Amino acid sequence: MSGLVTVAYIGATILFILALGGLSHPETARRGNIYGIAGMTLALLATVGGAVTDNYVLLIFGLAIGGILGIVLAQRVQMTQMPELVAILHSLVGLAAVLVGFANFMDPEVHFDGVEETIHNVEVYLGILIGAVTFSGSVIAFGKLSGKISGTPLTLPGRHWLNLGLFLLTIVVGWQFVNESAAGIGSNPGLTPLLIMTALALLFGIHMVMAIGGADMPVVVSMLNSYSGWAASATGFMLSNNLLIVTGALVGSSGAILSYIMCRAMNRKFLAVIAGGFGTSGSSTSSNQGAVEGEVISIESAEVANLLSKSKEVMIIPGYGMAVAQAQHTVCEITKVLRKKGINVRFGIHPVAGRMPGHMNVLLAEARVPYDIVFEMDEINQDFPSIDVSIIIGANDIVNPSAQEEPESPIAGMPVLEVWKGKTTVVLKRSMATGYAGVQNPLFFKENTCMLFGDAQDTLDAVLKKL
Ligand code: NDP
Repeated sequence: MSGLVTVAYIGATILFILALGGLSHPETARRGNIYGIAGMTLALLATVGGAVTDNYVLLIFGLAIGGILGIVLAQRVQMTQMPELVAILHSLVGLAAVLVGFANFMDPEVHFDGVEETIHNVEVYLGILIGAVTFSGSVIAFGKLSGKISGTPLTLPGRHWLNLGLFLLTIVVGWQFVNESAAGIGSNPGLTPLLIMTALALLFGIHMVMAIGGADMPVVVSMLNSYSGWAASATGFMLSNNLLIVTGALVGSSGAILSYIMCRAMNRKFLAVIAGGFGTSGSSTSSNQGAVEGEVISIESAEVANLLSKSKEVMIIPGYGMAVAQAQHTVCEITKVLRKKGINVRFGIHPVAGRMPGHMNVLLAEARVPYDIVFEMDEINQDFPSIDVSIIIGANDIVNPSAQEEPESPIAGMPVLEVWKGKTTVVLKRSMATGYAGVQNPLFFKENTCMLFGDAQDTLDAVLKKL
């Protein structure tokens, strides 16, 4: 039986690698998902069938509860709530690692001697440490992404010393834990240092994510994704489950690569993001950083339709507001009409547009916008001088020129789509409110920018009718 389980585990690992490969491009993402589902089904069947327990009733009960919760959540979640859902799911992986760590540590049947005992104790310690940081960090990220916690970075005085102190304390407590457990003194040797470390790790996770400002949240999302992978891998070590070790490492390393890509996209150093303090407010309305004054030119839907009809080159820049308005299908319809008129329509996608990596690509793929007209920022940024009309749909931070023009701006240095270099820019949004980073946008006051106020779904419907 164990041979069969090993073969199934190898098969599942291959399917997971294929899934990751597929998910790297919108065109192959659907296939990647199918590989992932197949891999997970195989992994579950092999693990359950591999006699991990004698108590099958309890196991099936647990599987049923988890499965039903998963189905209900997946059906109810709105597309705009996906980032929060991902954050809360990461927190569950962390919590699982903590619980498995304690269960494993207290299980009288798990017994090692000598060096093996020390290795096992280090595994348990690290598993709980990573799990607790992932858990509390993800809960705070959930709060920030859902707007329940302010996006303003918490910059405590001496916060770097606090982090360093917490780190050093976990090493000292870890040393105590390993020694106490090996000596076997008392009723529960090692339990007290383990509990102290868990509290420290929870505190560290909270402090780390609280210190990160709105504009840097993309890096946090991908970083916690990576942590959840390492937490799963640590759980695999504790349970001696090879598949969990490998799968966790795959998630951990792909999350780390994604964090690197997000840092590069935002022109930030990873350590600087973790140290925190960048970005300002997460509120869309409360903050007015770098207030800009000037005249705003507003425009009506009919005029926008007219402008579009007369142009040859159109660039569409979607942002978080398109997800809120669920306007992607209307955007696709407008694209079809314009292309039929012989107008060259392209989409420019900023790497941190929306609220999760690949957010805009997912929405455009759902609406069946052809992939060959969807371009990454780096591919099209130099083309704006030849663009007749750029349509900004519910985007703000990703088209904010102050990232280039104001060194003091919280988003200074972040590469942005240089739409203002085009002939005319039309911005679709409901008000003059700021975006996620809480920074006012000078683009809205430029001479060649017009504002089409209203919910993007309504205004685009009106444009489509006129077209
Ligand atoms: P922003 O949050 O900067 O701007 C979105 C704009 O959409 C708002 O200014 C809002 O203005 C408008 N809007 C909201 N609802 C509607 C609607 N129904 N109709 C029309 N407009 C609407 O989004 P961007 O995509 O430009 O930038 C992404 C930001 O999110 C960046 O700061 C990024 O760092 C951050 N982020 C990204 C993550 C990622 O992984 N991609 C994760 C976490 C954060 P108004 O209220 O006036 O309508």
